Amino acid sequence: MKKHVKLLDGSSIPVLGQGTWHMGEDKSKKDQEVSALQYGISKGMTLVDTAEMYGSGGAELVVGEAIRGMDRSDLYIVSKVYPHNAGRDKIFNSCMKSLKRLGTDYLDLYLLHWPGSVPLEETVACMEELVDQGKIKRWGVSNFDLDDMEDLWSVKDGDKCLVNQVLYHLGSRGIEYDLLPWMEKKGIATMAYCPLAQAGKLREGLLQNSAVGSVAKKHNITPAQVLLAFILARENMIIIPKASSENHIDENSKVLHIELDKEDMDLLIKEYPTPKFKLPLDIV
Ligand code: NDP
Repeated sequence: MKKHVKLLDGSSIPVLGQGTWHMGEDKSKKDQEVSALQYGISKGMTLVDTAEMYGSGGAELVVGEAIRGMDRSDLYIVSKVYPHNAGRDKIFNSCMKSLKRLGTDYLDLYLLHWPGSVPLEETVACMEELVDQGKIKRWGVSNFDLDDMEDLWSVKDGDKCLVNQVLYHLGSRGIEYDLLPWMEKKGIATMAYCPLAQAGKLREGLLQNSAVGSVAKKHNITPAQVLLAFILARENMIIIPKASSENHIDENSKVLHIELDKEDMDLLIKEYPTPKFKLPLDIV
């Protein structure tokens, strides 16, 4: 399976990364979270997704500690700006604070966390300035549905957005109806968040589902690995599962070696059908 997705700016982004939501919220868990990220990186999951929102900056501090002393060029760091900080008066400061917490001088990818009230033209212009200043290598958005993407494409340089990070897993396939085909046509990569449906919390029973179980049994893998491999079977997909136990990290890191066949995909799709009409974008 491919280890990287090619973005429209010609750069490569790893298809498998690590999430950090809820990290940095509880000081007593910090060492364990730092170790988990370091272990994931050692297993090849060099993309780390974080946000100024997570743990009110705490997650970025955890990531900063985890990557300290590592060769920065081996890593791919993604962070996100709050919509209310995405205007000219705040975004430069927000980005600078994220960089400081992360202990790095650039982000590989900076995302607008969700659509807000700051005009998109303004955010896009600032993102482009951050690129020019070398503070970020490239930018994208998150939680943008099709109409938001169309709005973005209507503003100057809006089409320089390279990635849209959205909720996507076997139990939530609404984006396949319209958003995903649109992004695929434009060549924009999808970063799938909650690829494990928060380990089944979002969709009761996903990990216990019998179709998922039988595909897992056939390949001698776990149901969680089936969920991740299902997403990566699509082109231009990046996944950022969050894991804190070594066991989970090991499982997730091996997913690049798993290829589901047509029979597996048909079985999974029969159980969780392809959407036939527009659904609102799922968010957490
Ligand atoms: P995930 O779907 O990644 O699920 C995380 C849960 O799955 C954790 O409880 C984890 O347990 C468990 N898990 C991890 N690996 C396995 C495995 N192999 N088998 C069984 N369980 C496993 O949910 P998240 O909400 O964390 O989403 C991933 C990331 O996406 C976030 O961390 C964040 O970076 C990003 N995100 C972005 C959003 C946005 O608005 N842009 C919104 C939500 C998330 P344990 O920790 O115990 O290992």
